[in-house]
Amino acid sequence: MNETGLSEEEIRKILNDSKGKDLKYERVLSSMCTYPHKIAIEAHMQFIESNMGDFGLFRGTYNLEKEILSSIGDLLHKTNAVGYMTTGGTESNIQAIRSMRNLFLQSPEYQKSASNGQKCARPNLVVPDSAHFSFDKVSDILDVELRKASLDDELKVSVESVKSLIDENTIGLVAIAGSTEFGQVDPIKTLSDIALEKNIFLHVDAAFGGFVLPFMEKNYEFDFKLPGVTSIAIDPHKMGLSTIPAGVLLFRDSHQLESLKADTPYLTVSTQYTLTGTRSGAAVAATYAVMNYLGKAGYRKTVSRCMELTDYLLDKLAEMDIHPLIKPVMNVVALEVPKCDIVRSRLAKEFNWQVSITQNPHGLRLVIMPHVSFEMIDSFVSDLKKVLDT
Ligand code: PLP
Repeated sequence: MNETGLSEEEIRKILNDSKGKDLKYERVLSSMCTYPHKIAIEAHMQFIESNMGDFGLFRGTYNLEKEILSSIGDLLHKTNAVGYMTTGGTESNIQAIRSMRNLFLQSPEYQKSASNGQKCARPNLVVPDSAHFSFDKVSDILDVELRKASLDDELKVSVESVKSLIDENTIGLVAIAGSTEFGQVDPIKTLSDIALEKNIFLHVDAAFGGFVLPFMEKNYEFDFKLPGVTSIAIDPHKMGLSTIPAGVLLFRDSHQLESLKADTPYLTVSTQYTLTGTRSGAAVAATYAVMNYLGKAGYRKTVSRCMELTDYLLDKLAEMDIHPLIKPVMNVVALEVPKCDIVRSRLAKEFNWQVSITQNPHGLRLVIMPHVSFEMIDSFVSDLKKVLDT
C-alpha cells in the first residue's frame, strides 16, 4: 500500500488484469461451486455491509436468515430445526462435531471419571474414509480422534466397519450425502439405527448433496426424517446457486446449538453460537433471494439438467470405452482412466481444462455443475480423446 492511493481507473485496471488471470467456469469441471444466480448477486450487493455477527443492528437480514433456516428445515423434514448460516461445509462440520464433543465432555459419565482423577480417554469420531478433508481439520482443532471406516464396492461406507470402530468414547458418527470425490450417498438409514441404538450423535454432511437429493426423482433417505440424524450441513454456495460464503448448519435439538454458546458482552446481542464473529449478511440475502426466486421447481429443473448432462457425458465416454468407477448417483463422475494424473495435467496444460483426481480408488473426477453445457462436454470429450490418443 502506498502513502497516497491509486486512482479509481488504476485500481480498475489492476482488478481487470487480475480477473483476466482467473479461470472462467466454462473450463472448470473440478469445482463444486458455480456462477451464482443473477438474483443472488443483486441481493448480495444490496446487503454488502450487513454483519450477522452483530445482528441486533441488522434485524432485517436476521429475519431473512430465520426464514432460510425454516425453509431448509422444511426441505430436510424438520421445520423447527435450529442452526445458523455458516461460511460453508467446513465450518458447519467443525461446529457440528464441536457440539457433539462439548456435550460428550459435559455428560455425567465423563464428568464422573474426570472428577475421580481418572485419565480420560480421548473422544473419537467415526467417519467414512471418503469424508471431506474438513474432518481432518476437525480432529486437529477439537482434539478428537478420527476413525476412518472403510468403503464397500459401491464406495459407500461399510456398516460393518463403522460398527467395529465404535466404543465407549465415540461421540458420534458422520455420514455423507454426496461425497466430494464420488457423489455417493452412505447407507444413512442404517447408520441412523446404529446411532439410536448406541445413543450417539449422527451428523450428515450434505454440503454438496443437500441441494441435489431433495430434487431428484428417486427418493433418498438422508435427512431429519431419519430419527437418528442429529445435525446436517448443507451449502447454498454449491448447488444452491447462492454467493460465497453461504453454508447452513442445522441441529435437530436446541440443546446441541446451546452447547456452542459464547457470551458477547460488547455487541447488541449478548450471545453467539457461531464460529466466526463477523458474518456476511450479503450471503444471507443472496441465499434468501435465490431460494425464493427458484422455488423447489427451479432447483428440480437445475438438478435434472445437470443429470441430463451427466448422462450425456457418460454416453460419449462409453463410445471411447471409458467408464465410471461407480454409476453416478448425482452430478459427480469418477472415471477409470489410465495414468489419470498425467491426463489431468495434460488437459490443463494443452487445453486449459480443470479436472481433478480421486484418491482411493484413483480416477479422473468431473463435477457437472450448472455452468456446464452440452457444447462444453462435446469440446471436453474431444480434447480428452486427443490426450488419450497421443
Ligand atoms: N463437505 C463436502 C461433502 C464437500 O464436498 C465440501 C467441499 O467440497 C465440504 C464439506 C467443504 O465445504 P467448504 O469448501 O464450503 O467449506
